[in-house]
Amino acid sequence: MSEFRVKTKARAEFVDITAKVNHAVAAEGVAAGLCTLFVPHTTCAVIVSENWDPDVTTDTLTHLERVVPRDGGYRHGEGNSQAHILSVMLGTSINIPVESAKLKLGKWQGVMLAEFDGPRERTVSVSVVAAGRTGGR
Ligand code: ZN
Repeated sequence: MSEFRVKTKARAEFVDITAKVNHAVAAEGVAAGLCTLFVPHTTCAVIVSENWDPDVTTDTLTHLERVVPRDGGYRHGEGNSQAHILSVMLGTSINIPVESAKLKLGKWQGVMLAEFDGPRERTVSVSVVAAGRTGGR
């Protein structure tokens, strides 16, 4: 298991962390298995999304803000309930297959940290479990 830090620059943004995750996966020394990513936070998430056309990120963020408005008449006094709700909806953990010691992502997929209460410094935890065989198929 290892961790790396990500500095976010805006209140809400997706930060592409694919290269950092692949670097961490390579350091684990596991050729094939499953990578679990986890963010120990309550106002961000970790997701897989398209990382080629930036309009996809803009559309996704815009629509998420419509689904969960910033001013929704929430009770939480800290004023960041929208970020807490979006973190729960998108999730703080994902699993991605590992092949040849790197993430086996689709051609258009990237791993992103979804920030909803930035700017902040976030921690991403990376664990890789090796695929094992007992002998027979
Ligand atoms: Zn809060």
